[in-house]
Amino acid sequence: MSAPVLPSCDAHNHLQAIRPEGVREECLETARRLGVEAMVVNGTCEGDWPEVAALAQKHRLVQPSFGYHPWRLSQRSPGWLEALRGRLTEFPAAGVGEIGIDAWILDQPAASLRRWDGGLGEIVPTPMTEQEQVFLRQLELAVTMDRSASIHCIQAWGRLLELLRSTRLPARGFLLHSYGGSRELVPQFAELGAYFGFSGALLHERKQRQRDAFRSVPPDRLLLETDAPDQPLPPAWIEQPLPLSAIGREQNHPGNLPVVQRFAAEFLGHEPRSFSAQVRTNHQRLFGHCTHI
Ligand SMILES: [Zn+2]
Repeated sequence: MSAPVLPSCDAHNHLQAIRPEGVREECLETARRLGVEAMVVNGTCEGDWPEVAALAQKHRLVQPSFGYHPWRLSQRSPGWLEALRGRLTEFPAAGVGEIGIDAWILDQPAASLRRWDGGLGEIVPTPMTEQEQVFLRQLELAVTMDRSASIHCIQAWGRLLELLRSTRLPARGFLLHSYGGSRELVPQFAELGAYFGFSGALLHERKQRQRDAFRSVPPDRLLLETDAPDQPLPPAWIEQPLPLSAIGREQNHPGNLPVVQRFAAEFLGHEPRSFSAQVRTNHQRLFGHCTHI
């Protein structure tokens, strides 16, 4: 017997990055049929903000978010900050994201970054001091415009905590997307207003550290995400496959969110229906209501 369809909300994905473009509508339709009620679609640079905006205009379950991802900072135009403010003004319910800091990328050889470029141009790592400056400016925009912020962090969790403690934070809170920090840091981030996003990566048994952290997150701060087309599930768990992208990259389908939600509920020992309701309430508290909910 197949599992019942329960509502789910995707706190973080990049629908605009699914290739080819023609399959995105189908992805949305499939996700909707499987209970996905809302998805926060994150832009990463000026190059993909128009696609995020177009998806949000067309589909009510898309909650747009605009920001400069730490991997894309070398692509900023001189007027990037004004352009970002403009997008946020155009979409009064939009969040700020994906923003953040990333120490991992600094050591990656250019050749290995090529598979991530996603047709948006070459990824050129930006020094940490500049990453921090740009991150703080965008966070400030979230504060002054009263928006949520969606934060990316890899191998810089201690530094992120310092930065968040040193500045004003969005009143409605912020998402630590694909939380990869330690269990010990969870209460410290939570005190600052953090929500913690977990993706299908949890389904990999090797992710014990992440599972430990997941278990320690306060129930009212827990969110689920696909990060689609990134972070494919382990092959045995994939219910909604997608073909490889043109450059041969595996792609995650946003319709795999119910799989993540079922796994998460069982892992935590929660009854699936009440868990679904809890995550939905958390999602709405941080990102607001999707227009059709
Ligand atoms: Zn992302």
